[in-house]
Amino acid sequence: MNTPSGTFEAVPLEALFPDAGAADLGRLARSAAEIDGALVPGKRLVWEWFPEHVIFPGRSVAGTPEILLTEVSLYDEGSDWLALSLDVEWTEEGLLRVWSAISVACWCEVEHNAHYVDPVDRTVAGATSLADAFETAAGRFVQALAGPRDPEHWRAHAILPPRKQG
Ligand SMILES: [Zn+2]
Repeated sequence: MNTPSGTFEAVPLEALFPDAGAADLGRLARSAAEIDGALVPGKRLVWEWFPEHVIFPGRSVAGTPEILLTEVSLYDEGSDWLALSLDVEWTEEGLLRVWSAISVACWCEVEHNAHYVDPVDRTVAGATSLADAFETAAGRFVQALAGPRDPEHWRAHAILPPRKQG
């Protein structure tokens, strides 16, 4: 089965987050609209969602159970790339977590595929609602869209080996 995807209007928010109130879901939609507003005019983010993970599947599941995510490419040239992602997922403890980071291609001697730089990570617990966590992560996303789009900048920032020439 293909993962459902589409612009944020298509995301079945009530079904994915049955514990969130209408006001909170409205805040999610506004945050997503702010991200769209920060993209190249006319471009919209594409989100993917995972209805099978609405209920915490438990620790036994391999990998991170994702509920809603998006990713946008900031650079993609040859075998080098830079991307920006935002994920709503379950922690191992069964709490919702919203996470946003820049990911950059790995040029280490040992191949790691990708490195995540400056992640913003908010767990939905206590006074932090899903909307609070999502707004914080979306703010990070908007900030990163306006930032440097050179993978070398971010590898240097994270003290990672630079791209090999040739
Ligand atoms: Zn690496």
